Amino acid sequence: MTDIKIYNGNQIGGCITVVSSSEAKVMIDFGKNLPGTETENLAFDWETENVDAVLFTHYHGDHIGRFKEIPRSVPVYMGRVTRQVMTTIAKYTQDTEALQILHDDTRVHEIKAAKSFAVKDICITPYLVDHSAFDAYMYLLETPDKTILHTGDFRGHGHRGKSLINMINTYIRRNGKRKVDVLLIEGTMLSRLTEKVYSEADMLKDCIRLFEEHRYVFLICSSTNADTLATFYKAANRNGIKMFAHRYVYEQICHFKEAEIEYRKSIIKNRKKACGNHGIYDFKYVYPYYPSKGISAYGASKKDVTQEEIMRDEGFCLVIKADEAYKKWIDKFKDLNPIVVYSMWEGYLNPKHNAYNEKYKAFLDSCDHVQYMHTSGHATAKLLAEVINSVEPTESIYPIHTENAKELERLNIKEELRGKILYK
Ligand SMILES: [Zn+2]
Ligand SMILES: [Zn+2]
Repeated sequence: MTDIKIYNGNQIGGCITVVSSSEAKVMIDFGKNLPGTETENLAFDWETENVDAVLFTHYHGDHIGRFKEIPRSVPVYMGRVTRQVMTTIAKYTQDTEALQILHDDTRVHEIKAAKSFAVKDICITPYLVDHSAFDAYMYLLETPDKTILHTGDFRGHGHRGKSLINMINTYIRRNGKRKVDVLLIEGTMLSRLTEKVYSEADMLKDCIRLFEEHRYVFLICSSTNADTLATFYKAANRNGIKMFAHRYVYEQICHFKEAEIEYRKSIIKNRKKACGNHGIYDFKYVYPYYPSKGISAYGASKKDVTQEEIMRDEGFCLVIKADEAYKKWIDKFKDLNPIVVYSMWEGYLNPKHNAYNEKYKAFLDSCDHVQYMHTSGHATAKLLAEVINSVEPTESIYPIHTENAKELERLNIKEELRGKILYK
């Protein structure tokens, strides 16, 4: 008999799922509680639990942040970009233990979208979804007696979000031929139902206008938020402006760029149509920020011109962090009246919120011109309902990764499905 255990399902960070069949035990995600959470991270007894494999949905810390605690004998599964992003983080934080794990091919197994693999008697298929992480997956687990879908974090308003329902119907449900018994669905936005959805496409339009008016832009954005980086990159590029970043951020962007090249090759080889707005991740004109060096080393033609001169002449979008250390980067271009765009969750700036970040707030208060533009990484109430209606689970629906699970019952879902919502 299949058993499903959900730990910390009633909070946004550190939600962990364990699925057991008669032969195998598989964990989905092993991340940390969100910063500012009062409770301790879950104490998991690896000794007695005998987990056979851990599947990571994506590289956000609340899903993968505790991977070093997993016993060495347990294989871990993740997307290639997730592995690369985590490796770059470990490299720059000089975390040798993490690097050792991430470099170990006997330990880390790279998953591919729609390619099934088995852990004993459980057949597992990952499906790529749109999220603020580049390669985020839903997992379909088929045990001898149950079919379970774990959504991970997802949304529909990013650059690759439009195809989600079609993907569920065609690949997961096989046009109704495959039934899903149990659905575990993320519900981050259930506590933010009144929040207006601002899509990456809307933000792209606004960004194009922004760069028409301001040619000197400092961008505060997560170094791993590929979609938002792509939005600003594309908008700057349309206005003949290049993007620059700290070499760490540049290295992360290179992972997205390489993945895009691989994706393009695969669709040409398999004669498929690209799905979603994939071309947006080309990141051709992004350079590591070395102002005194000649830009020629980074793709421009003139040898005797420094990067700073190019930036002053053409304009720039320079990715920074909300950190005092970056103040001197802004000061260097003060005479040009640059603007600072904050493109991260506004909760970090709200003193009433648990995740309030005093440093971010102080940094932004010290900047002269600040604009706020940000898209959420999570599914809207409307999309949550659409996913539930198309997955049409036969037995049960468990809200996870949410602080307001009860709201799920109020969504626009089919009546017979509403009765299947359960809480663990
Ligand atoms: Zn996430
Ligand atoms: Zn999350």
